[in-house]
Amino acid sequence: MAKKKDKSESVQQRKERLKKLLLQKRQEVLDEAKTEIGKFIRGENKQEIETALDDGDWSVVDLNEDLNLKKLSTHKEMLNKIDEALRKLQEGTYGICEECGAEIPEERLKIIPFAIYCVDCMENIEKIQEMEKEDLF
Ligand SMILES: [Zn+2]
Repeated sequence: MAKKKDKSESVQQRKERLKKLLLQKRQEVLDEAKTEIGKFIRGENKQEIETALDDGDWSVVDLNEDLNLKKLSTHKEMLNKIDEALRKLQEGTYGICEECGAEIPEERLKIIPFAIYCVDCMENIEKIQEMEKEDLF
C-alpha cells in the first residue's frame, strides 16, 4: 500500500511541481532579457529598465525607440505566455490542448511549459498556416 501511495502524485503536488517549472522558466527568460539589455545599454538606464522588468512593466521596452531594445518583445511575448500558463494552472486548465481538449503529455510541457496545443494539433495548425502562406502566391 505504501509503495502505491509513493508512486501516485496528488493533484496538488503536480500543480506545485508544474508551477515551479513555469516560475523557473519565467526567471530564465527574464535573465536572458536582462543579459540582452546589458549588451547595449549601460549605466542608470540599464538599472532603470531592469527594475521595471522585474515589476512586470514592459512599457519601457515598448516605448523605447531603440531597435535593439524592441527585440526584447519576443522575451515579453514568452513571459506573457508563461503568465497565461500560470493563470491556467491556477484555474486547473493547464496542460490541456486548447484545440482538442486532450491532455498535453508532461514530456512536452517540460520542453515547452507554455504549450497550449498537443503535438498533433500543433502540427495541424502549422500545416494550415503553411497552406495559407502558399495561397498568397
Ligand atoms: Zn490537441
